[in-house]
Order: sequence, then structure tokens, then C-alpha cells
Amino acid sequence: MLIVMEARASQPDIDRVCETIVKMGYEARPMPGGERTAIGVVGNRGPVDGTRLFGLPGVKELIPVSRPYKLVSREFQSEDTIVELSNGTKIGGKNAALMAGPCSVESEAQIFEAARIVARSGGTVLRGGAYKPRTSPYAFQGIGVPALGWMRAAARAFGLATVTEAVDEASAEQVAEHADVIQIGARNMQNYALLKRLGRYERPVMLKRGPSATVEEWLLAAEYILDAGNPRVILCERGIRGFDRMTRNVFDLASVPLVQRLSHLPVIADPSHGTGVRELVRPMAVAALAAGAHGVIVEMHPNPAEALSDGHQALYPEELERLGAAAPSAATLGGRTLGKAPQP
Ligand code: PEP
Ligand code: MN
Repeated sequence: MLIVMEARASQPDIDRVCETIVKMGYEARPMPGGERTAIGVVGNRGPVDGTRLFGLPGVKELIPVSRPYKLVSREFQSEDTIVELSNGTKIGGKNAALMAGPCSVESEAQIFEAARIVARSGGTVLRGGAYKPRTSPYAFQGIGVPALGWMRAAARAFGLATVTEAVDEASAEQVAEHADVIQIGARNMQNYALLKRLGRYERPVMLKRGPSATVEEWLLAAEYILDAGNPRVILCERGIRGFDRMTRNVFDLASVPLVQRLSHLPVIADPSHGTGVRELVRPMAVAALAAGAHGVIVEMHPNPAEALSDGHQALYPEELERLGAAAPSAATLGGRTLGKAPQP
């Protein structure tokens, strides 16, 4: 349930409502807005009986929340969440960002070269995995902590922020220390122990959609992170498993505007994993921005033929530059402004 307070409600009125919610055995989540405060009730398993709340001073109305997820829903918060990164990049609301980099961080030289190309192409966030969740245990698993250090240094040298994946609780600790955004990969979307752990970090989390997750399951996964105390979540559509093997996944672009109706969280798109086909990445990135995505994240390798993972879907540097040139007007079509590249 959501309790909407009158615009003129005083702080003691708000406190009294919160205390009453707690006495009823629930948790109160006050959400001050531009004009008025709304107070969310969480911790209930079924409908909340609002009789004790309705007559309290300052209460305007009680709105039952019909969705299974609450904190992430538009019913709970009507204004868009905007996540701001250390280099000033904003993701959410009217802001979109271009994020790019290799699938994996492979060496110091490789990630520095990648950062240079990303900045030159107009990107503001550098991606790259230090911990790689691979389908095969024999595939390259990532370099770990040294890669995190190289990545941070490379990004800082070119004015970029960083996003990199945590695969378990131990790597989350390392990633939170070194990176600007903690990526939770598709395979871990339903690793609830890991999601709960993210509540202890200040760092924003980029939560990828699971390969077979419904939109509702994806939003419930995000709910775990908000419920654990971290409201800085960016959702990322990366395709779901279908029957056609011509593409790696089915890039479900419709989920972007759909989720934007259901949730206040920013939603970005990953057409690299969404399609798994290099030639499809740029057109689908442009389509995602035109559909109103709050950003795109794409794989680019300085030399895809030598990549240790996902080289087949990595953009060549000049392809990223072409995407960077098209991205601002695509974002404008989608009603967003693409964040400016840092000045060299
Ligand atoms: C990645 O970003 O390299 C990755 C492994 O993505 P996903 O979790 O979407 O498969
Ligand atoms: Mn990859």
C-alpha cells in the first residue's frame, strides 16, 4: 500500500503515519517528492487494512499497490530514478549514456586502448569483465583483481566511468571497491543471496535480465536490491532465449518501454549479447535509443580476432565510432539526451 500525504502535511504528521505502520507490524518507507510525501508500506504478505491510517492527520489517500514488486514500481515512485556516476554521467529520466568496451579485460594495454577508443567515440562508460561467468568451465574466466585496477586507471585517464561484473559475494566486494557500477550478469539475476548482499554498497548496480526471466521476475530481482537498501539500480535488457539459433538470443526491445511504464528505474539495452551478431549490434543499439532506452552497452575490442571472449560479436573500433556518431540523434528520437563524451 502507498499512503499519499497532503501537500501541507507536517513532519510530525508523516512521523505519526510511519509509527502507526510499524505498530501494525510492517515497515514504512517515506518518499519525499517535489510537492508531497508518499509513504510506502512494505513487509506485508497480503492486503493491508488501512483503517488505522486513513483518519490520521495529513493523510490524503491510500492506494493499494497491485503489483508483486513495490519499491521498483511507478505506483510507489512516479518520478524517474536518475543514477549519477563519478564522471558526471547520468542514466535515467531524460538522460542516456553510451557504454562500451571489451567483453573481458585481457591486459593493461588492451583496456587502455579500449578506453581511448570508447572516449573518442563519444562513450562515457567503459565496460569490461574482470570476472567472467562462462558457460564452459574451460573457457577464459577473467583476470580478477589486477584487471579491476587496470580498468579503473584506463577509465580515469580518459574521463570515463566503469562498469564490471561481480559473479559472487567475494568479487562484489572487489568490484564495489574498484568500479563505478557493479554489473550483475544474466546468469546471476536470480542469485538472491548475491542480490541481497548488494544492499550494503553505495555503488549503483546494473542488473541484467536473465536469459529466461519474465519482465516480472526481472523486476522482482531488482526489488531484492532496493529492499536490501540500494536504490541505485539500472536494468539492462540483454535478450532472452528463443528457438532460433540465427541470433544468440531474442533481443526483446519491447521490454524497454514496457519496463519504463511499470518502473521508475533506468533501463538500458545490450544488443551485443542480445543478438550475438556483430553486424546487428549497431542497428539494434540505434533502435534501442530511439525506443527510449536510457543507454546502450556494447562490446568493442581493439582487435576482435584476438579477443579471449565474445570476439565474434565485438564491434571493430571504427564501428563503435559510427555508432557514437548516430547515437545522439537516436537518443533524441527516444526523448533522451545522450551524455557528452569527456574532453580529451
Ligand atoms: C557480459 O556482459 O559480458 C556478459 C557475460 O553478459 P550476460 O550476463 O548478459 O550474458
Ligand atoms: Mn560478453
